Amino acid sequence: MRGLTPQVQQIVQKTIRAQEASSAETKPFFVADLTKVEEMYEQWTVELPRVKPYYAVKCNLDRELIQTLDSLGAGFDCASINEIQHVINLDISPSRILFSNPIKSPASLRYAREVGVQILTFDNSDELSKIRTHYPKALLLFRILVNDHASVTPLGSKFGATICSAGKLLRQAVDLNLQIVGVTFHVGSGSMDPDAWAEAIKEALPVFELVAMNDIHGPPLKILNIGGGFTPENFPLATERIRARLKASVPDDVEIFAEPGRLFASHAFTLTAQVIGKRSQDEATSHDCGTGRLYLNDGVYGNFMNAVFEKPSYQPIAVVKAYDTYPQIGQGEFVYSLWGPTCDSSDCISKSVVFDRDVQVGDWLVFENMGAYTDACQTKFNGFGESAATQYLPVSR
Ligand SMILES: *Cc1c(COP(=O)(O)O)cnc(C)c1O
Repeated sequence: MRGLTPQVQQIVQKTIRAQEASSAETKPFFVADLTKVEEMYEQWTVELPRVKPYYAVKCNLDRELIQTLDSLGAGFDCASINEIQHVINLDISPSRILFSNPIKSPASLRYAREVGVQILTFDNSDELSKIRTHYPKALLLFRILVNDHASVTPLGSKFGATICSAGKLLRQAVDLNLQIVGVTFHVGSGSMDPDAWAEAIKEALPVFELVAMNDIHGPPLKILNIGGGFTPENFPLATERIRARLKASVPDDVEIFAEPGRLFASHAFTLTAQVIGKRSQDEATSHDCGTGRLYLNDGVYGNFMNAVFEKPSYQPIAVVKAYDTYPQIGQGEFVYSLWGPTCDSSDCISKSVVFDRDVQVGDWLVFENMGAYTDACQTKFNGFGESAATQYLPVSR
């Protein structure tokens, strides 16, 4: 069902009224429904009972979101000193954190050692030398390169070792007295291929065999980390394939981890932004293909950065006009492109959105599923882009 729930609608209207009653500049804002996170987590435990999720905090650092996941029993995947600090400051034990950035600065390695984050990722021999110097007792996951072509944000161009190099790297680790405990991969963010994880697991198994065959003189590997890339859409089919693959080919004594980001964050957050400028259809220029333009107080340098990387089609689900809210079913005759507030022409949220009724300066547009890689990607460009405030729906526990 499209449209706002009455609960979200009420908070949206209340927040807008409060903003409009003040003389300060209006700001975009989020409404978070953390029961969606609880539901998703419940679904996770049903579909992947064998897999422990470590939420990738880079996706959304919202404290209430992290605390909700903490109370549900999730672990956390961090990539920097600041992310680790952020999680620890929420009273979460460092033993529940994975330091999953394959490339880590010397200072961040020392920091992880000091606070007791034990499990780190690596994918090359220079990183092993660095780890040897700054954190020789760390437990290491070997990140391999897997097929990520079906994802909206592939990561293989930056990270992951080939299987051919596995023997050499594992032997080097043993020579350096380092402990490799498992294998990790990432099929790319937002994978469109429900088979991607099951296929990648197949690609990871030879590394386990290499060690088990005693070719490498270390203890057997005990962890397989299947990374992130899940979306609420690919989840049902992907997990079915993962379960089958794990059952068929991964021994029961191997612990399975995952690092979902977007899956837990995206659906829990609704974003509302105001139309602060407009060029109507009859003033359209040769650039406009006959459509008008709406300029919002949020854009590509703010919460819509994914417009650049993942190119989703943003479609508002409601238009709020002062005291009235209209569901936006997108079948009208008013066509606008949507733009952010900066002076950059690449600050375009959407080339074409169809509205049921005309939109005016001062109206607010509501976008759903805005929890993933939104606030986390904010910039300060052009003096905009402070974090949007978040209102939380009451959680019934
Ligand atoms: C970004 C990232 C994730 C989370 O990816 P999603 O697509 O949001 O699930 C998990 N693990 C690593 C190492 C990452 O870099």
